[in-house]
Amino acid sequence: MAKPKRVYQVWKGSNKFFFGGRLIFGPDAQSLLITISLIVVPVVIFCVFVARHLLHRFAAYDAGFAILAVAIAFTIYVLVLLLLTSARDPGIIPRNSHPPEEEFSYDTSVQHPLEGPRHTPSLQFPRSKEVIVNGMPVKIKYCDTCMLYRPPRCSHCSICNNCVERFDHHCPWVGQCIGLRNYRYFFFFVSSSTLLCIYVFSMCALYIKFLMDEDYPTVWKAMRHSPASVVLMIYCFVSLWFVGGLTGFHLYLISTNQTTYENFRYRADNRPNVYNRGCISNFLEVFCSRVKPSRNKFRAFVQEEPPLPPPTSRYREPESESTNEPRSKVEDDLEIGGELLKISRRRNSTEVDEELRGRSSNGMHSVASEAELNMGSETQHATSRPEVRNSSWGRRSGSWEISPDTLPRRPPTA
Ligand SMILES: [Zn+2]
Ligand SMILES: [Zn+2]
Repeated sequence: MAKPKRVYQVWKGSNKFFFGGRLIFGPDAQSLLITISLIVVPVVIFCVFVARHLLHRFAAYDAGFAILAVAIAFTIYVLVLLLLTSARDPGIIPRNSHPPEEEFSYDTSVQHPLEGPRHTPSLQFPRSKEVIVNGMPVKIKYCDTCMLYRPPRCSHCSICNNCVERFDHHCPWVGQCIGLRNYRYFFFFVSSSTLLCIYVFSMCALYIKFLMDEDYPTVWKAMRHSPASVVLMIYCFVSLWFVGGLTGFHLYLISTNQTTYENFRYRADNRPNVYNRGCISNFLEVFCSRVKPSRNKFRAFVQEEPPLPPPTSRYREPESESTNEPRSKVEDDLEIGGELLKISRRRNSTEVDEELRGRSSNGMHSVASEAELNMGSETQHATSRPEVRNSSWGRRSGSWEISPDTLPRRPPTA
Protein backbone atom coordinates (compact mmCIF):
# COMPACT_ATOMS: atom_id res chain seq x y z
CA MET A 1 0.00 0.00 0.00
CA ALA A 2 1.30 3.42 -0.91
CA LYS A 3 2.43 5.55 1.94
CA PRO A 4 -0.21 8.17 2.72
CA LYS A 5 0.79 11.62 1.59
CA ARG A 6 0.80 14.67 3.73
CA VAL A 7 -0.93 17.91 2.79
CA TYR A 8 2.31 19.74 2.06
CA GLN A 9 3.36 16.98 -0.35
CA VAL A 10 0.32 17.48 -2.54
CA TRP A 11 0.14 21.26 -2.01
CA LYS A 12 -1.14 23.09 -5.07
CA GLY A 13 0.30 26.49 -4.25
CA SER A 14 3.83 27.42 -5.27
CA ASN A 15 5.19 27.32 -1.74
CA LYS A 16 8.36 25.65 -0.62
CA PHE A 17 8.27 23.49 2.47
CA PHE A 18 11.11 22.56 4.78
CA PHE A 19 11.46 20.19 7.72
CA GLY A 20 8.62 17.96 6.67
CA GLY A 21 6.13 20.75 6.14
CA ARG A 22 6.87 22.51 9.43
CA LEU A 23 8.17 25.61 7.66
CA ILE A 24 6.42 27.16 4.69
CA PHE A 25 8.03 29.74 2.43
CA GLY A 26 7.07 31.43 -0.78
CA PRO A 27 8.53 30.17 -4.06
CA ASP A 28 11.19 32.89 -3.89
CA ALA A 29 12.50 31.76 -0.52
CA GLN A 30 16.08 31.84 -1.76
CA SER A 31 15.95 35.64 -1.69
CA LEU A 32 15.81 35.25 2.07
CA LEU A 33 19.49 34.28 1.98
CA ILE A 34 20.30 37.61 0.33
CA THR A 35 18.26 39.46 2.92
CA ILE A 36 19.96 37.62 5.78
CA SER A 37 23.40 38.37 4.37
CA LEU A 38 22.45 42.03 3.91
CA ILE A 39 21.87 42.09 7.66
CA VAL A 40 24.54 39.74 8.97
CA VAL A 41 27.53 40.81 6.86
CA PRO A 42 27.42 44.50 7.87
CA VAL A 43 26.90 43.55 11.51
CA VAL A 44 29.91 41.23 11.43
CA ILE A 45 31.98 44.02 9.86
CA PHE A 46 30.69 46.34 12.55
CA CYS A 47 31.61 43.97 15.37
CA VAL A 48 35.07 43.22 14.02
CA PHE A 49 36.18 46.62 12.76
CA VAL A 50 34.25 49.09 14.90
CA ALA A 51 32.74 47.67 18.08
CA ARG A 52 35.95 45.81 18.93
CA HIS A 53 37.84 49.11 19.05
CA LEU A 54 35.18 50.68 21.22
CA LEU A 55 35.50 48.03 23.93
CA HIS A 56 38.08 49.87 26.00
CA ARG A 57 37.25 53.47 25.25
CA PHE A 58 34.85 54.07 28.09
CA ALA A 59 35.66 54.87 31.65
CA ALA A 60 33.12 52.33 32.71
CA TYR A 61 34.63 49.26 31.12
CA ASP A 62 31.32 47.46 30.56
CA ALA A 63 29.91 50.20 28.34
CA GLY A 64 32.20 49.11 25.51
CA PHE A 65 31.01 45.53 25.81
CA ALA A 66 27.43 46.69 25.93
CA ILE A 67 27.80 48.22 22.47
CA LEU A 68 28.94 44.89 21.08
CA ALA A 69 26.37 42.87 23.00
CA VAL A 70 23.49 45.11 21.94
CA ALA A 71 24.53 44.86 18.29
CA ILE A 72 24.63 41.06 18.42
CA ALA A 73 21.43 40.67 20.43
CA PHE A 74 19.55 43.11 18.25
CA THR A 75 20.68 41.35 15.10
CA ILE A 76 19.46 38.01 16.45
CA TYR A 77 16.14 39.65 17.31
CA VAL A 78 15.81 41.01 13.77
CA LEU A 79 16.64 37.62 12.28
CA VAL A 80 14.07 35.89 14.47
CA LEU A 81 11.45 38.39 13.31
CA LEU A 82 12.50 37.75 9.74
CA LEU A 83 11.98 34.02 10.18
CA LEU A 84 8.66 34.52 11.95
CA THR A 85 7.58 36.57 8.94
CA SER A 86 8.74 34.29 6.20
CA ALA A 87 8.61 30.73 7.52
CA ARG A 88 4.98 30.61 8.60
CA ASP A 89 1.60 30.43 7.01
CA PRO A 90 0.75 34.07 6.22
CA GLY A 91 -2.98 33.29 6.32
CA ILE A 92 -3.57 31.00 3.37
CA ILE A 93 -7.16 29.93 2.83
CA PRO A 94 -7.23 26.26 1.90
CA ARG A 95 -8.44 25.60 -1.59
CA ASN A 96 -11.70 23.88 -2.23
CA SER A 97 -11.55 20.71 -4.24
CA HIS A 98 -14.60 21.69 -6.26
CA PRO A 99 -16.66 24.80 -6.93
CA PRO A 100 -19.23 25.74 -4.32
CA GLU A 101 -22.22 23.70 -5.46
CA GLU A 102 -24.63 25.53 -3.22
CA GLU A 103 -24.01 28.57 -5.38
CA PHE A 104 -24.91 26.91 -8.65
CA SER A 105 -28.08 28.10 -10.18
CA TYR A 106 -29.84 26.20 -12.88
CA ASP A 107 -31.34 28.11 -15.70
CA THR A 108 -34.01 25.79 -16.98
CA SER A 109 -35.57 28.20 -19.41
CA VAL A 110 -33.02 27.67 -22.16
CA GLN A 111 -34.44 26.17 -25.30
CA HIS A 112 -32.52 23.63 -27.24
CA PRO A 113 -32.21 24.82 -30.85
CA LEU A 114 -32.91 21.41 -32.36
CA GLU A 115 -35.15 19.73 -29.91
CA GLY A 116 -37.40 22.62 -29.13
CA PRO A 117 -38.29 23.74 -25.68
CA ARG A 118 -37.00 21.51 -22.99
CA HIS A 119 -35.43 21.93 -19.66
CA THR A 120 -31.78 22.32 -20.30
CA PRO A 121 -29.97 23.34 -17.20
CA SER A 122 -26.99 25.58 -17.47
CA LEU A 123 -24.41 25.93 -14.81
CA GLN A 124 -23.98 29.35 -13.35
CA PHE A 125 -22.82 30.82 -10.15
CA PRO A 126 -22.22 34.45 -9.26
CA ARG A 127 -18.68 35.63 -9.70
CA SER A 128 -19.00 38.21 -7.00
CA LYS A 129 -21.16 38.84 -4.01
CA GLU A 130 -21.73 41.72 -1.72
CA VAL A 131 -21.28 41.42 1.99
CA ILE A 132 -21.79 44.06 4.62
CA VAL A 133 -18.73 45.12 6.59
CA ASN A 134 -19.21 47.73 9.29
CA GLY A 135 -22.48 48.70 7.67
CA MET A 136 -20.95 49.23 4.25
CA PRO A 137 -21.31 46.96 1.25
CA VAL A 138 -18.09 45.25 0.21
CA LYS A 139 -17.81 43.25 -2.95
CA ILE A 140 -16.13 39.89 -2.63
CA LYS A 141 -14.99 37.92 -5.62
CA TYR A 142 -14.86 34.30 -6.51
CA CYS A 143 -11.38 32.85 -6.92
CA ASP A 144 -11.28 30.45 -9.84
CA THR A 145 -8.03 28.89 -8.73
CA CYS A 146 -8.96 28.26 -5.12
CA MET A 147 -12.65 27.74 -5.94
CA LEU A 148 -13.90 29.87 -3.11
CA TYR A 149 -15.34 33.26 -2.43
CA ARG A 150 -12.57 35.36 -1.01
CA PRO A 151 -13.40 36.84 2.36
CA PRO A 152 -13.17 40.61 2.57
CA ARG A 153 -9.52 41.80 2.47
CA CYS A 154 -8.41 38.48 1.04
CA SER A 155 -6.54 38.41 -2.21
CA HIS A 156 -4.90 35.82 -4.40
CA CYS A 157 -1.12 36.08 -4.47
CA SER A 158 0.00 35.40 -8.00
CA ILE A 159 3.50 34.46 -6.85
CA CYS A 160 2.50 31.94 -4.19
CA ASN A 161 -0.73 31.02 -6.02
CA ASN A 162 -2.79 31.08 -2.84
CA CYS A 163 -5.59 33.16 -1.47
CA VAL A 164 -4.24 34.98 1.57
CA GLU A 165 -6.33 36.61 4.27
CA ARG A 166 -5.80 40.31 4.86
CA PHE A 167 -3.33 40.21 2.02
CA ASP A 168 -0.88 43.07 2.26
CA HIS A 169 1.66 42.32 -0.43
CA HIS A 170 4.11 39.67 -1.48
CA CYS A 171 7.47 40.70 -0.13
CA PRO A 172 10.33 39.51 -2.32
CA TRP A 173 12.85 40.34 0.41
CA VAL A 174 11.36 37.90 2.87
CA GLY A 175 10.15 35.54 0.12
CA GLN A 176 6.67 35.28 1.53
CA CYS A 177 3.25 36.85 1.38
CA ILE A 178 2.54 39.40 4.05
CA GLY A 179 -0.93 38.71 5.35
CA LEU A 180 -3.12 38.32 8.38
CA ARG A 181 -0.84 35.99 10.31
CA ASN A 182 2.57 37.60 9.75
CA TYR A 183 1.92 41.28 9.21
CA ARG A 184 2.75 42.10 12.81
CA TYR A 185 6.10 40.33 12.59
CA PHE A 186 6.80 41.94 9.25
CA PHE A 187 6.24 45.38 10.72
CA PHE A 188 8.44 44.60 13.74
CA PHE A 189 11.08 43.28 11.38
CA VAL A 190 11.09 46.40 9.25
CA SER A 191 10.99 48.81 12.17
CA SER A 192 13.68 46.89 14.07
CA SER A 193 15.87 46.91 10.98
CA THR A 194 15.45 50.66 10.93
CA LEU A 195 16.60 50.88 14.54
CA LEU A 196 19.54 48.59 13.81
CA CYS A 197 20.59 50.88 10.96
CA ILE A 198 20.40 53.91 13.21
CA TYR A 199 22.33 52.10 15.93
CA VAL A 200 25.17 50.94 13.67
CA PHE A 201 25.35 54.36 12.03
CA SER A 202 25.55 56.11 15.41
CA MET A 203 28.21 53.79 16.78
CA CYS A 204 30.34 54.24 13.68
CA ALA A 205 29.99 57.99 14.05
CA LEU A 206 30.97 57.66 17.69
CA TYR A 207 34.07 55.72 16.74
CA ILE A 208 35.06 58.39 14.22
CA LYS A 209 34.54 60.97 16.97
CA PHE A 210 36.84 59.03 19.33
CA LEU A 211 39.48 58.81 16.62
CA MET A 212 39.28 62.56 16.06
CA ASP A 213 39.70 63.19 19.77
CA GLU A 214 42.84 61.10 19.75
CA ASP A 215 45.44 60.86 17.01
CA TYR A 216 43.43 61.95 13.97
CA PRO A 217 42.56 65.63 14.21
CA THR A 218 40.42 65.92 11.08
CA VAL A 219 37.37 63.95 9.95
CA TRP A 220 39.17 63.04 6.79
CA LYS A 221 42.10 61.50 8.65
CA ALA A 222 39.83 59.66 11.06
CA MET A 223 37.83 58.24 8.18
CA ARG A 224 40.96 57.11 6.43
CA HIS A 225 41.97 55.28 9.57
CA SER A 226 38.66 53.41 9.72
CA PRO A 227 37.30 52.82 6.21
CA ALA A 228 34.96 50.15 7.60
CA SER A 229 33.15 52.84 9.60
CA VAL A 230 32.73 54.93 6.49
CA VAL A 231 31.40 52.04 4.42
CA LEU A 232 29.00 51.05 7.19
CA MET A 233 27.75 54.61 7.61
CA ILE A 234 27.06 54.92 3.90
CA TYR A 235 25.38 51.52 3.86
CA CYS A 236 23.22 52.33 6.88
CA PHE A 237 22.32 55.72 5.49
CA VAL A 238 21.12 54.24 2.21
CA SER A 239 19.30 51.37 3.95
CA LEU A 240 17.66 53.79 6.32
CA TRP A 241 15.80 55.43 3.45
CA PHE A 242 14.44 52.06 2.46
CA VAL A 243 13.51 50.46 5.78
CA GLY A 244 12.78 53.77 7.47
CA GLY A 245 10.49 54.82 4.65
CA LEU A 246 8.77 51.46 4.78
CA THR A 247 8.32 51.75 8.54
CA GLY A 248 6.74 55.17 8.15
CA PHE A 249 4.49 53.98 5.37
CA HIS A 250 3.28 51.00 7.39
CA LEU A 251 2.73 53.17 10.46
CA TYR A 252 0.43 55.24 8.30
CA LEU A 253 -1.29 52.12 6.94
CA ILE A 254 -1.77 50.67 10.43
CA SER A 255 -3.13 53.94 11.79
CA THR A 256 -5.75 53.99 9.02
CA ASN A 257 -6.29 50.22 8.95
CA GLN A 258 -5.34 49.66 5.35
CA THR A 259 -3.26 47.04 3.66
CA THR A 260 -0.67 47.99 1.06
CA TYR A 261 -2.89 46.35 -1.53
CA GLU A 262 -5.94 48.31 -0.43
CA ASN A 263 -3.95 51.51 -0.30
CA PHE A 264 -3.14 51.20 -3.97
CA ARG A 265 -6.62 50.02 -4.86
CA TYR A 266 -8.45 52.65 -2.84
CA ARG A 267 -6.35 55.35 -4.36
CA ALA A 268 -7.11 54.04 -7.83
CA ASP A 269 -10.81 53.44 -7.23
CA ASN A 270 -11.44 56.30 -4.86
CA ARG A 271 -13.17 53.89 -2.53
CA PRO A 272 -13.92 54.56 1.12
CA ASN A 273 -12.03 52.56 3.72
CA VAL A 274 -14.61 50.55 5.62
CA TYR A 275 -12.14 49.00 8.07
CA ASN A 276 -10.94 52.19 9.73
CA ARG A 277 -12.08 52.05 13.36
CA GLY A 278 -10.05 54.95 14.66
CA CYS A 279 -6.31 55.22 15.09
CA ILE A 280 -5.97 53.56 18.50
CA SER A 281 -8.32 50.70 17.71
CA ASN A 282 -6.49 50.15 14.44
CA PHE A 283 -3.16 49.83 16.25
CA LEU A 284 -4.70 47.51 18.82
CA GLU A 285 -6.10 45.38 16.05
CA VAL A 286 -2.70 44.87 14.44
CA PHE A 287 -0.53 44.54 17.53
CA CYS A 288 -2.75 43.31 20.35
CA SER A 289 -5.16 40.91 18.72
CA ARG A 290 -4.49 37.21 18.96
CA VAL A 291 -2.80 35.75 15.89
CA LYS A 292 -5.34 33.44 14.32
CA PRO A 293 -4.30 29.81 14.11
CA SER A 294 -3.42 28.57 10.67
CA ARG A 295 -6.25 27.12 8.62
CA ASN A 296 -3.82 24.67 7.07
CA LYS A 297 -2.49 21.52 8.61
CA PHE A 298 0.46 21.03 6.31
CA ARG A 299 1.58 17.86 8.03
CA ALA A 300 -1.82 16.21 8.20
CA PHE A 301 -2.30 13.14 6.06
CA VAL A 302 -4.40 13.58 2.98
CA GLN A 303 -7.44 11.43 3.09
CA GLU A 304 -8.98 9.98 0.00
CA GLU A 305 -12.00 11.91 -1.09
CA PRO A 306 -15.17 10.10 -0.10
CA PRO A 307 -17.06 8.66 -3.07
CA LEU A 308 -19.47 10.99 -4.77
CA PRO A 309 -22.78 11.18 -3.00
CA PRO A 310 -25.60 9.70 -5.04
CA PRO A 311 -27.18 12.41 -7.18
CA THR A 312 -30.03 14.14 -5.49
CA SER A 313 -33.15 14.45 -7.50
CA ARG A 314 -33.74 18.06 -6.78
CA TYR A 315 -33.19 19.25 -10.31
CA ARG A 316 -33.66 16.01 -12.13
CA GLU A 317 -36.32 15.79 -14.75
CA PRO A 318 -39.09 13.42 -13.74
CA GLU A 319 -38.82 11.18 -16.77
CA SER A 320 -35.18 10.45 -16.24
CA GLU A 321 -36.03 9.24 -12.77
CA SER A 322 -38.21 6.48 -14.11
CA THR A 323 -36.24 5.24 -17.08
CA ASN A 324 -33.04 3.31 -16.88
CA GLU A 325 -31.94 4.19 -20.38
CA PRO A 326 -28.35 5.27 -20.60
CA ARG A 327 -28.26 8.93 -21.41
CA SER A 328 -26.64 9.68 -24.70
CA LYS A 329 -26.10 13.32 -23.95
CA VAL A 330 -24.35 14.72 -20.97
CA GLU A 331 -26.66 17.61 -20.51
CA ASP A 332 -27.85 16.66 -17.14
CA ASP A 333 -26.94 19.16 -14.51
CA LEU A 334 -25.93 16.44 -12.12
CA GLU A 335 -23.72 14.88 -14.69
CA ILE A 336 -22.03 18.20 -15.10
CA GLY A 337 -21.71 18.69 -11.40
CA GLY A 338 -20.19 15.26 -11.08
CA GLU A 339 -17.81 15.90 -13.91
CA LEU A 340 -16.69 19.10 -12.33
CA LEU A 341 -15.98 17.23 -9.17
CA LYS A 342 -13.99 14.62 -10.96
CA ILE A 343 -12.06 17.10 -12.99
CA SER A 344 -11.28 19.31 -10.09
CA ARG A 345 -9.87 16.40 -8.17
CA ARG A 346 -7.83 15.09 -10.95
CA ARG A 347 -6.42 18.08 -12.67
CA ASN A 348 -4.93 21.29 -11.63
CA SER A 349 -7.37 24.00 -11.05
CA THR A 350 -6.16 26.33 -13.77
CA GLU A 351 -7.27 23.84 -16.35
CA VAL A 352 -10.54 23.44 -14.58
CA ASP A 353 -10.87 27.16 -14.62
CA GLU A 354 -10.39 27.17 -18.36
CA GLU A 355 -12.87 24.38 -18.78
CA LEU A 356 -15.42 26.13 -16.68
CA ARG A 357 -15.01 29.24 -18.72
CA GLY A 358 -15.20 27.28 -21.92
CA ARG A 359 -18.28 25.47 -20.76
CA SER A 360 -20.06 28.45 -19.43
CA SER A 361 -19.50 30.25 -22.70
CA ASN A 362 -20.59 27.32 -24.79
CA GLY A 363 -23.60 26.74 -22.69
CA MET A 364 -24.31 23.22 -21.67
CA HIS A 365 -25.65 22.05 -24.98
CA SER A 366 -22.36 20.82 -26.21
CA VAL A 367 -20.34 19.56 -23.36
CA ALA A 368 -17.27 18.27 -25.04
CA SER A 369 -15.69 15.02 -24.11
CA GLU A 370 -12.68 15.00 -21.87
CA ALA A 371 -10.35 14.53 -24.80
CA GLU A 372 -11.83 17.39 -26.71
CA LEU A 373 -11.56 19.57 -23.70
CA ASN A 374 -7.96 18.64 -23.26
CA MET A 375 -7.11 19.37 -26.84
CA GLY A 376 -9.28 22.39 -27.11
CA SER A 377 -8.36 24.08 -23.92
CA GLU A 378 -5.76 26.21 -25.62
CA THR A 379 -8.10 27.41 -28.31
CA GLN A 380 -10.87 27.93 -25.85
CA HIS A 381 -8.51 29.94 -23.83
CA ALA A 382 -7.72 32.08 -26.81
CA THR A 383 -11.10 32.42 -28.39
CA SER A 384 -13.81 32.03 -25.88
CA ARG A 385 -12.54 33.45 -22.66
CA PRO A 386 -15.73 35.35 -22.30
CA GLU A 387 -15.58 38.82 -20.95
CA VAL A 388 -19.34 38.89 -21.16
CA ARG A 389 -19.70 35.98 -18.80
CA ASN A 390 -20.54 38.26 -15.96
CA SER A 391 -23.48 39.76 -17.73
CA SER A 392 -25.95 37.15 -16.61
CA TRP A 393 -24.63 36.88 -13.11
CA GLY A 394 -26.37 39.30 -10.93
CA ARG A 395 -24.99 40.62 -7.73
CA ARG A 396 -26.18 38.84 -4.71
CA SER A 397 -26.12 39.85 -1.17
CA GLY A 398 -25.56 37.20 1.35
CA SER A 399 -24.02 36.41 4.61
CA TRP A 400 -20.39 35.68 4.31
CA GLU A 401 -19.15 32.26 5.12
CA ILE A 402 -16.22 30.19 4.12
CA SER A 403 -16.87 26.73 2.91
CA PRO A 404 -15.54 24.25 5.43
CA ASP A 405 -14.76 21.97 2.57
CA THR A 406 -11.03 22.09 2.80
CA LEU A 407 -8.24 20.04 1.40
CA PRO A 408 -7.08 18.08 4.40
CA ARG A 409 -9.11 15.21 5.78
CA ARG A 410 -12.68 15.68 4.81
CA PRO A 411 -14.75 13.63 7.15
CA PRO A 412 -16.40 10.89 5.13
CA THR A 413 -19.96 12.07 5.00
CA ALA A 414 -21.28 9.83 2.27
ZN1 LIG B 1 -7.21 32.13 -4.79
ZN1 LIG C 1 2.89 35.50 -2.07
